[in-house]
Amino acid sequence: MSEIEKVALVTGGSRGIGRAIVIALAQAGWEVVFSYHQNAQAAEETAQAARQAGREVLPVQADIAEEAGRERLVNAALEAFGGIDLLVNNAGIAPRSRVDLLEMTRESFDEVMDTNLKGPFFLTQRVARVMIEQARALQSPVQAPPDESSPVVMPMIINIGSISAYASSTNRGEYCLSKAGVSMMTALFADRLAGEGILVYEVRPGIIMTDMTAAAQSKYDRLIQEGLLPIRRWGMPEDIARAVTALAGGALPYSTGEIINVDGGFHLRRL
Ligand code: NDP
Repeated sequence: MSEIEKVALVTGGSRGIGRAIVIALAQAGWEVVFSYHQNAQAAEETAQAARQAGREVLPVQADIAEEAGRERLVNAALEAFGGIDLLVNNAGIAPRSRVDLLEMTRESFDEVMDTNLKGPFFLTQRVARVMIEQARALQSPVQAPPDESSPVVMPMIINIGSISAYASSTNRGEYCLSKAGVSMMTALFADRLAGEGILVYEVRPGIIMTDMTAAAQSKYDRLIQEGLLPIRRWGMPEDIARAVTALAGGALPYSTGEIINVDGGFHLRRL
């Protein structure tokens, strides 16, 4: 078992990528608070699996698109554990239906942007303030130099982005716009928070086997078989969780604002 014993807050931990992240963080020694939106049973399954690691794991119902939901989530973490050392902005949705760009509705645009971009932005703003207060209360040195004998695990924010930040899909433009926004959000907070001793990264998944991609499974099966990805397989939620735990464990202490592509090589330009 790791010696970390710090507190992670993960959004959307009930299913898919978020579930794998919650379990992997608990296995790496983190206490974890995670949110779900509607699926209480799936959240409980995640919590039980993660608790096998011997850590405290707390599911909280919270719509991250709503101010009240974000507030409930942060307060639950503070009441249970007294602080937050890591925020993983994972929760996200696809549009309810894939509709051509020329037909996209304002309702769908608002729903996707509120959940995928506005919610994570204001949650990050809130949690960053908590992290700054914590650091001041502890009078911990800002940007402490790495010490070989005790690895530095600085307060950290990890955003789960998407290849859709740069890959156009004209039948789900609102999703692409939201993820392009998440990418700039990573840069903005990385810049603003480096001086506060808080690191910010984007983990950028490719095509990952979850409920979100289930509706398009046969299409992606075919594309992968035809060679879309240099690494010819679906990504699994655990592939993303590995990247998150590596960062969270302090793998890149002199990097911030980095995008970690976890996409089977999708982002490579090829001839
Ligand atoms: P899933 O649909 O499998 O899971 C989504 C999770 O987010 C669930 O835990 C869900 O809760 C939660 N959630 C949804 N809406 C809200 C909300 N308003 N408030 C709080 N929680 C909410 O998605 P994935 O695991 O596939 O995706 C996770 C992240 O990874 C997303 O940001 C997605 O955009 C990104 N991503 C996914 C890729 C893929 O191929 N799967 C590729 C690239 C990026 P509940 O169970 O209660 O509904």
